[in-house]
Amino acid sequence: MSSPRAHTIIHDIGTMVTPARVPAPIRGDDLAAVVQVSGAAIAIGDDGAILASGPEAEVRAAVSSDDDTQFHDARGALAIPGLVDCHTHPVFSGDRAAEFELRNLGAGYEEIHAAGGGIRASVARTRDALDAGTIAPQVRRHLDWMLAAGTTTAECKTGYALTLEHELESLKVLQGVAADHPLRTTRTLLAAHTVPVEFDGRADAYIDEVAIPAAQRAVREGRATAADVFLERGSFDVAQAERYLVAAQQAGLVARIHGDQFTDQGGIEMAVRIGARSIDHLEALEPDAPRLRALAQSDVAGVLLPLSSLFLGRPYAPGRELVDAGAIVALASDFNPGSSYGESLTLAMSLACLGSRLRASEVLTATTVNAAWVLGLADRVGRLDPGYRGDVVLLDQPSLAHLPYHVGSPAVRGVFVGGLEVGAAAAGVYA
Ligand SMILES: [Zn+2]
Repeated sequence: MSSPRAHTIIHDIGTMVTPARVPAPIRGDDLAAVVQVSGAAIAIGDDGAILASGPEAEVRAAVSSDDDTQFHDARGALAIPGLVDCHTHPVFSGDRAAEFELRNLGAGYEEIHAAGGGIRASVARTRDALDAGTIAPQVRRHLDWMLAAGTTTAECKTGYALTLEHELESLKVLQGVAADHPLRTTRTLLAAHTVPVEFDGRADAYIDEVAIPAAQRAVREGRATAADVFLERGSFDVAQAERYLVAAQQAGLVARIHGDQFTDQGGIEMAVRIGARSIDHLEALEPDAPRLRALAQSDVAGVLLPLSSLFLGRPYAPGRELVDAGAIVALASDFNPGSSYGESLTLAMSLACLGSRLRASEVLTATTVNAAWVLGLADRVGRLDPGYRGDVVLLDQPSLAHLPYHVGSPAVRGVFVGGLEVGAAAAGVYA
């Protein structure tokens, strides 16, 4: 039998790194047990899946090529799987640059929120843009930024619209933008992000009249795969969060939770109780808390969002302790206009090493296959192994150790989605 024909061959890779070849989700010591091959190549077939990867001579022997095969010279670059951002909020209009400065001069996040600014300002602008039909190009721009930064798969949340119709419209806009965008996306309904001004003091009514019906309709209309809630003082309490998420689960959605960002509201216990997929933030989780052990022993992923720690001057989540205790750990950007206006997962990797004391190998696993597991995609993306989608990022770094060490470097040299180079095209969109 003849060897399969390669559509694309990425050759002369300095070092190729892919997560340990153990089933996802990856925990404990296996997070650091990445596979590294120097002098590597990756061959991708016509269907966009990886045919062979590893030592260049072996890859070239395993596949055939013809005049139509695209050869891409990596010129010694570091190759990693396309990054997977399992927590982003890209459906919003405008930005909050003015608030950024205010906050840096002393105003607190909760203070701005209580004064009717912050997230409510984004909600008002987003509703207007949805009504005017002007939001899609803004969402597309956010996805372009992610792709240019090396993210090839992203979970996209709603949560800046907060009426039944506007939340569903947010999902619809995402669906429309994603249809012809190279980034692979999943959609999460974050109807319970904050209590909108028209429901002031009536969070329970908001859950019953808006959030739960939105989850049910999102499923009926095929618009989302997960539901998320912001469990925090001033937003939703644990009873409200649980009522919404359980209803969403019953409708067919996976449950995600923003929890332990500023305070312990019982989010970990609730996540384990209802079988949520993840609890994200965890900056308020004490490193020696018995709750940390309970999370580590469960099948709920802990998603670290270190860019929001940087942005808000908050503690970093106890990543080292979570990994050592055996937790499923993933890492994401939390891209949003108020508390993490940044899409760079490579910067998130640096911060997780510096702030949460993780290893380079651990953050690689946490932003690839483990993040894909959170999104239910771990059988397709997050590894450079045969059968996985040919999503590859080439970085101008001599080794994996240099990736988090070179803080804030725009080191992305090439982005491939399904074997097609897309990085340069994406940059052109807003150049
Ligand atoms: Zn978030």
